[in-house]
Amino acid sequence: MIDTLRLTAEGALELLERREVSSRELHAAYLDAISERDGELHAYLRTCDEPSGEGIPIALKDVISTAGVETTAGSLILQGYVPVFDARVAARCKAAGLSLLGKTNTDEFAMGSSTENSAWGPSCNPWDPTRVPGGSGGGTAAAVSAGLAPWGLGSDTGGSIKQPSALCGNVGLRPTYGTVSRYGVVAFASSLDQVGPVAKTVRDVALLYSIIAGRDPLDSTTAELPEGVELPEGDSLAGVRLAVPRQVGELEAIEPGVRTAFEQALKLAGDLGAEIAECDLPLSYRYGMPCYYLVAPAEASSNLARYDGVRYGQRVDADGYDEMVERTRDEGFGPEPKRRIMLGTYALSAGYYDAFYGQAQKVRTLLVREHREALDGIDAIVTPTSPTVAFPIGDKAADPLAMYACDLLTIPSCLAGLPGLSIPCGLSDGLPVGLQLIGRQFGENGLFRIGRALEQALGFDTVPLRWRS
Ligand code: GLN
Repeated sequence: MIDTLRLTAEGALELLERREVSSRELHAAYLDAISERDGELHAYLRTCDEPSGEGIPIALKDVISTAGVETTAGSLILQGYVPVFDARVAARCKAAGLSLLGKTNTDEFAMGSSTENSAWGPSCNPWDPTRVPGGSGGGTAAAVSAGLAPWGLGSDTGGSIKQPSALCGNVGLRPTYGTVSRYGVVAFASSLDQVGPVAKTVRDVALLYSIIAGRDPLDSTTAELPEGVELPEGDSLAGVRLAVPRQVGELEAIEPGVRTAFEQALKLAGDLGAEIAECDLPLSYRYGMPCYYLVAPAEASSNLARYDGVRYGQRVDADGYDEMVERTRDEGFGPEPKRRIMLGTYALSAGYYDAFYGQAQKVRTLLVREHREALDGIDAIVTPTSPTVAFPIGDKAADPLAMYACDLLTIPSCLAGLPGLSIPCGLSDGLPVGLQLIGRQFGENGLFRIGRALEQALGFDTVPLRWRS
């Protein structure tokens, strides 16, 4: 019996190398777990019965194009869209032998923090199915946490890898902007979107990152990594300098239980030899969210213009072209993409461009600078990943601003283009709390080393409490 709840990707690879299981058996074991538990969780939008590779399986967020496998980005407007090509990241996974288990649920066009904006209904948190798994990549996070995939890929614009990883007790990496190709990834906000790994351990995340990262001639925003990806080994933090933003102490949005788990993890980091200082990110927490909610919708309004009923997915027939486009978009997009298209179109319109979009870009430059200064002389900035643990399904669904606030702590470094690693650091009321490490550009190896040492010392059990025997 393969215990998929506990099996890591590295563990699965070992089983495969020692020929204790075949790739077909592994794939089948995960499909069994899916039929056993995904009725309750709805992490997957669709699964693949046949293994597509000789290696271990993987789950891909449904914003990643997969040749021959329907890709909807959680939207009705893409229902029935079957890409004829693989996104670069999917192709890289294939080339590494990874076998596609299925496509995971997401908020529509990755807009949201709970998967409740998915046109196909929400996913549930494996730790407590009455609660959200986070979002937008809640499907991948729920799948990994429930043993429905050893690992998976998500995409992160303002927190969609880090936040669901935190809420489901996984490790998640949002890589440095430009290190992973977006070719074939359904675009949300192109100056922010990044694909990255979700897994149970920091080493698994590093391994998957090594598979997907690097320059892609088909995505001109990608860069070659300045150094190879190293699988972290050590468990000491001697000589490591961490800094907690002063503002984190004052943010009322951070729940007491999250604060406690975070502070205990910091103390542990100190015991492992880390030096813990303070840094200052005053503009980031004040203006990060408003800046993001201008830049991201502006870019989204432009990216979503391509869904016109002609090129992809759904079409609602009507008399004439204009009416067809109008009705297709009216029926195809849910409320959140519509809200953002309107916000973004407004912010980009003549007469308002400088006042909104232009101003947001200036603020963004200030946030980049502020982060550069904060990172001067230290190895990583540390904060909680999410101000709260997983919240009940329905709690914030009717209040877009409350939903937006979930990303208070993840957004600023995304605007600055910096890598962020979230690791589980404890429980609050029986639900996982995430700790976020922010590094400098291309600083993933450093984050992996710190994350791995801390992970070893924390000894967090990634199996949801209700399934432990
Ligand atoms: N929750 C944020 C939003 O709704 C971030 C989503 C994301 O990273 N894709 O925009």
